[in-house]
This record gives sequence, structure tokens and C-alpha cells, in this order.
Amino acid sequence: MSTDKPTGADTYNATIERIESVADGLSIFFIRPDAPIPGRQPGHYVSIALVGPDGNKLIRRPYSLSRSLGPAIDPDLLELLIIRVPEGDLTPILFEQGEGGRLFVRPKMLGTYLLPDLDPEMTMILASTGTGVAPHMTMLEACVNTCKQVLMMECVRYGAELAYAEQIREFRKTHPNLVYISLVTREGGPKRYIQDYFRDGILEKEYGVTIRPENTHVFACGNPAMIGIPKKARKTGHLSYETPGGLVEILTARYGLSIHKARQPGQIHFEKYW
Ligand SMILES: Cc1cc2nc3c(=O)[nH]c(=O)nc-3n(C[C@H](O)[C@H](O)[C@H](O)COP(=O)(O)OP(=O)(O)OC[C@H]3O[C@@H](n4cnc5c(N)ncnc54)[C@H](O)[C@@H]3O)c2cc1C
Repeated sequence: MSTDKPTGADTYNATIERIESVADGLSIFFIRPDAPIPGRQPGHYVSIALVGPDGNKLIRRPYSLSRSLGPAIDPDLLELLIIRVPEGDLTPILFEQGEGGRLFVRPKMLGTYLLPDLDPEMTMILASTGTGVAPHMTMLEACVNTCKQVLMMECVRYGAELAYAEQIREFRKTHPNLVYISLVTREGGPKRYIQDYFRDGILEKEYGVTIRPENTHVFACGNPAMIGIPKKARKTGHLSYETPGGLVEILTARYGLSIHKARQPGQIHFEKYW
């Protein structure tokens, strides 16, 4: 009889099929689960895990599904855009893996950061920082094919981190209802953040966008400071903001949009990464 104890690695059920390096410490991982995971919708995330330094326990983290634009999409392959967090627990181990490496993927599509029913009168704004562009890549095609106007806004530290910029610019050529705004904060020049475009009315003035609760949805993904998630007082319902000047505050105060909840549909949708 074998005395080998099962370890976390015994649960591995997926293979890293391909890795595309985007920039230093930023890669796209294409992962093939041994059995396809059903029920995928734009905006979903998956939970992946690798065995940690103790050689036994699994370290799990959630990652949004992404999607390169192009003709040949394999519906069973999971595409993840991941940045290495040097002080992190999982990503340094993940970035040591090569193509062919095995890992655990929870066989379930997860999350509520999902598109509403789309209609042709809609303006859809997809705003992200860093790797937060990933879920918007899975939403882009459906939005552009139905909505009147789609704004893809992303903010990164260095231009090299705009993983999908070339694809989006190419896609724009055949989809004139798509506006692409990419912002880079650490390469000199004036710094502009996504929030500035809403706070200072730049979208209205320079892009002719009207933001109204009747026809506009805003998706915000990535850094919690960009989103500015409020706390709601239990008794009064009053919203207070730990990080003032975030998107949620501007969109509610200036434009009258409200936060989307399952039981109370609104127009502001967000996914914070930490
Ligand atoms: C729903 C959801 C989806 C996510 N999707 C993605 C994704 O598509 N791509 C991705 O790279 N990450 C994504 N994340 C973050 C991811 O789950 C991990 O937190 C991240 O990879 C760090 O893991 P770690 O174990 O290396 O670091 P940890 O030991 O967990 O350290 C976490 C710290 O790292 C920092 N951090 C976390 N995520 C990021 C990030 N993306 N960029 C910069 N700093 C970060 C924060 O300061 C955080 O406190 C997502 C998180 C959530 C909740």
C-alpha cells in the first residue's frame, strides 16, 4: 500500500498551453482545463491555484477571463492577463511556470460583473486600470455590435503594458462607434486619469458623449482608488467615500447614475482587484 499523502498538486486539472509575454512581469496565460468549463459569459472570472512553498497547500486567486480579438477563438481555452506582484504569494510562483506547466482551475465560471441586456440606444463605457482591461475584452465585441457608442478607456503605468492596444485600434477601423482612450501615467508628460474625463466633462466636450442614467452604463475594473467604492451607512443609507474623487462618486453626484445591485439594477458596475 502506498503511504504517499495526497498534496495540492494532486488536484491539478489544467495545463498552461501558451504564454505570451506583454511586458516585463506582465503576461497572457492561455490555460486549457482537462474538461471544458461550461457557462462562460463576458465578465466572468475563474479561480486558479498552485502549490505554495510548503509543497502542499494550494494558493488560490481569482482572475478575470480575457479575450484577444481575432477570428480564431477557442471557446474552451481560458485567457488570463496577469501582472506579477513581486511581494505576492501566487504570482511569483505562477511566473516561474512554463508552457506545459500544470495548475488547478476551479471548474466554475464566477462573478456578477456581467453585461446588462444591451440595446441600440445604449452608451457603454468600459474603464480599467492595469490588468482590469481583461473582462472588458470579453465584453467589447457584444457591446460594439449592439450599442450606439462604446468607450474603451484604460490607464496603465507604461505604454508597453497596453496589452491589447494594437488589436483594439485595428478593431476600431471597422467599428466607428468605438472610441479608445489609453492613458499612460509614468512616462512623463501631463498625467491624466480616467476620473478626470468624467469630473472635468472631457467626455462630453471632446468626445460628444452624453452620460445619462437612461442610456449609459459604466463598467469600472482594477485599482480600487479609480473606482472609489463607497461605504453605505446602515441606518441612513448615506454614502461615504474612503478615497474621494473616484468614479463612483463622480458618476453618482455629477451624472445621477446609481450603483448596480442584483435586486436594484443601476448603471455603475465595478470589480475591484484588491
Ligand atoms: C474578481 C477578481 C479578478 C481579478 N482578475 C485579475 C486579473 O485579470 N489579472 C491580475 O493580474 N489580477 C487579477 N486579480 C488580482 C489577483 O486575484 C491577485 O490578487 C493578484 O494576482 C496578486 O496575487 P498574489 O498572490 O501574487 O499577491 P497577494 O499576496 O494576494 O498580494 C496582493 C496585493 O497585490 C496587489 N495587487 C493585487 N492585484 C494586483 C494587480 N492586478 N495589479 C497590481 N497590484 C495588484 C495589491 O496591493 C494586493 O494587496 C483579480 C482579483 C479579483 C478579486
